[in-house]
Amino acid sequence: MLIVMNHNATQADVDAISRIVQEMGFRAEPIPGSERTAIGVLGNHGYVDDSKILELPGVQRVIHVSKPYKLVSRDFHPEDTIVDVAGIKVGGGCRPVVVGGPCAVESLEQIVKTALFVKKCGGDMLRGGAFKPRTGPHTFQGLREEGLKLLAVAGKESGLPIVTEVMSPDTVGLVAEYADLLQIGARNMQNFDLLREVGRIRKPVLLKRGMSATVEEFLAAAEYILAEGNDQVILCERGIRTFETATRNTLDLSIVPLIKELSHLPIMVDPSHATGKRSLVVPMAEAALVAGAAGVLVEVHPEPEKALSDGPQSLTFPGFEKMMNEIGQLTYFLQNR
Ligand code: PEP
Ligand code: MN
Repeated sequence: MLIVMNHNATQADVDAISRIVQEMGFRAEPIPGSERTAIGVLGNHGYVDDSKILELPGVQRVIHVSKPYKLVSRDFHPEDTIVDVAGIKVGGGCRPVVVGGPCAVESLEQIVKTALFVKKCGGDMLRGGAFKPRTGPHTFQGLREEGLKLLAVAGKESGLPIVTEVMSPDTVGLVAEYADLLQIGARNMQNFDLLREVGRIRKPVLLKRGMSATVEEFLAAAEYILAEGNDQVILCERGIRTFETATRNTLDLSIVPLIKELSHLPIMVDPSHATGKRSLVVPMAEAALVAGAAGVLVEVHPEPEKALSDGPQSLTFPGFEKMMNEIGQLTYFLQNR
């Protein structure tokens, strides 16, 4: 429930309502706005009788929020959230960011070489999986802690912030020691204990959309993280399962402007996992930026044909460089349109 105050309501009115909401057994979260203050009511498990509240001084109206998310919604937080990843700003009107790197960290040489190349081309962050959520157990599962150490070297040498996946609640502390942005993969979007655990740390989180998740389920998953106190969350569309098998997934680009209507959190797009096909990555990365994405996350590998995972969708170095040049021009156009 959201209590919208009159524009001339006083702080005393807001305090009095907050007190009454607490007496009713709920949490009150005042949301100051440029026009008027609103008070978010949290902790109710169903409809709340608003008759008492509507009679109180300063109250303009009450909005009943029946969605399973509140803290992530625009209703509760009208201004865009800008997420700060080690000094790189994501969201709002900020320049779109590019996260580049291999699917998985494979060796020191591979990750350092890629990091330096991503940096040279103007990339903003380095990605690379150390803990890999693979479909079958007989494939490369990632270098785990050793991979995190290699990422740290690559991050130091290139100066790029590190984005890497965390797969289980018990490794959140370890991954957070190395990552500047902790990724929750599509397969773990509804791992609620993991969501709660990353909600308790003070590092930003990149939450990928589950491959069969609706927009509502996606936002409800993000709500778990915010509900624990961490509002530094970036959403990431990475394609969904449909009847179509010509591409690895189907990139749902309409989610970008839709999320911007529904939520204040930034949304990025991963065209690599969405398409599964190198030749489609750059056009869809650019389409994502035109649709208003806060950035893109792409896989790039020094020798994609030798990659231990996701080689067919990984850009080559020349492919990544070309994309960065095109994105540079596109960003100039987008920021001046
Ligand atoms: C990844 O980004 O490395 C990854 C495994 O992606 P997703 O969780 O979207 O499949
Ligand atoms: Mn991958």
